[in-house]
Amino acid sequence: MNASEFDIIVIGAGVAGGVFAASQPASTRILVIERDLTEPDRIIGELMQPGGIQALEQLKLRHLLEGIDAQEVNGYNLIKGNDRFTIEYDEVQKGIKGIGLRNGKFLTNIRKELQQRENITLVQGNVIRMLEHNDTITGVVYTQEDGTTVSQHAKLTIVCDGPMSILREKLSKVNKKVTSHFMGLVLKDLELEFPSYGHMIVSGAFPILVYPIHTNAYRILIDYPGGKAPKMGKESMEKLKEEVIKILPEEMIASFLKAMDEEPLKVMPNHSMKGQAFRKKGAALLGDSLNMRHPLTGGGMTASFSDILCLNDKLTGVDFQNEKNLEQAIHEYYKNRGRGVETINILANALYEVFTDDELKEACFEYLQKGGEQAIGPLSILSGINKSKPFLLKHFFKVAMQHPIHFITKPAKQFRLYKNATRIIRPILKEEEVPAMI
Ligand SMILES: Cc1cc2nc3c(=O)[nH]c(=O)nc-3n(C[C@H](O)[C@H](O)[C@H](O)COP(=O)(O)OP(=O)(O)OC[C@H]3O[C@@H](n4cnc5c(N)ncnc54)[C@H](O)[C@@H]3O)c2cc1C
Repeated sequence: MNASEFDIIVIGAGVAGGVFAASQPASTRILVIERDLTEPDRIIGELMQPGGIQALEQLKLRHLLEGIDAQEVNGYNLIKGNDRFTIEYDEVQKGIKGIGLRNGKFLTNIRKELQQRENITLVQGNVIRMLEHNDTITGVVYTQEDGTTVSQHAKLTIVCDGPMSILREKLSKVNKKVTSHFMGLVLKDLELEFPSYGHMIVSGAFPILVYPIHTNAYRILIDYPGGKAPKMGKESMEKLKEEVIKILPEEMIASFLKAMDEEPLKVMPNHSMKGQAFRKKGAALLGDSLNMRHPLTGGGMTASFSDILCLNDKLTGVDFQNEKNLEQAIHEYYKNRGRGVETINILANALYEVFTDDELKEACFEYLQKGGEQAIGPLSILSGINKSKPFLLKHFFKVAMQHPIHFITKPAKQFRLYKNATRIIRPILKEEEVPAMI
């Protein structure tokens, strides 16, 4: 391979890098470098919101979800103690649903697609650094399986090395926070009243998610609040079991206990990170290496696809030999991507905080339980289809102020609700509003 062989180098054939590469025109010559091409077994990226499916359709890649025993998800079943109700995605009426899947199977489909494309070369390699000349990224250095090192050059390098990115520092201001951890298991032989729904269980001090990922298998994600990872010793595991059983609906307990006995508990940190890129020629960040939000609402893949649509739009018609136009396209991508992801980010981070405040959690549950616009409206934001920030904020504050009469009848509680809602949303909004480029 010589220096002029590729227009684009993509680092990481994960959800973002793989889908980005597969969505490029056949005339663009692409090198995709992935650290590990074997199928991963991981607990991330397993619930795709309707907005993600819609974006995949726009990218003409909807078929990547086929043949992997993915499961339809029609909406959410919310559970708080003995109170339960379901909300269906509004989009279900229009034939768009959410989908539960095994992330590894989805990645295998993506990588097969890359291997079939004549304009794409997919190699296994660990990118150790980016090459830079005159303040421009000109390529990468990666190590191959046999330990040898290879340098490759391209006019554009797209960095998609995921949540634990080691390369983002060169291209952005890193302000990563760990808000909590998710602990994951697979539940089998569950008999649920609403099998084709995501279950959001908010009965205890930490939220739990349960959703189908393939036939007779549901992912359970148990939140462990705070920045520290859970202890995995025997005693801690017994304590965890006891606490989860207190919260889990009766019909899930036997399956949970069996899974705890038979499977290793998988743990992942849940990050929040605002994407703030440096002005750097020849490269751009995409996916979790650029921007992360709490995964409670399953918005990460949808946000990545929204970014891909934005980036593709800006790259359309750009001559890769024209450095100035290429630089302009990257600037435009960073400047404009926010509109596609801000509501996903705000809702994810705000809802997680709401669930840590008992009174707000209660108010939120009551609000959604009313049904109609009060349920479908917020869910349309969560689904990644409705991207109106004013609409999101209207519902957010209506949760806290759904009983204006309480300003008179229960003023202390009502002021507390309002104050806490404001305390939660203000820093999140501020973070979303920081300039996309510095
Ligand atoms: C616990 C948890 C649950 C989640 N659940 C959901 C969900 O249900 N729905 C949803 O939409 N989102 C979810 N997310 C978020 C979602 O998984 C991410 O937004 C999405 O995977 C981002 O894609 P990515 O390509 O940036 O990263 P990844 O999919 O992780 O891909 C990164 C790729 O880069 C490769 N790589 C890394 N370093 C190098 C290197 N140096 N050289 C070469 N290759 C490299 C990796 O091997 C990997 O294949 C969840 C996140 C967490 C933490």
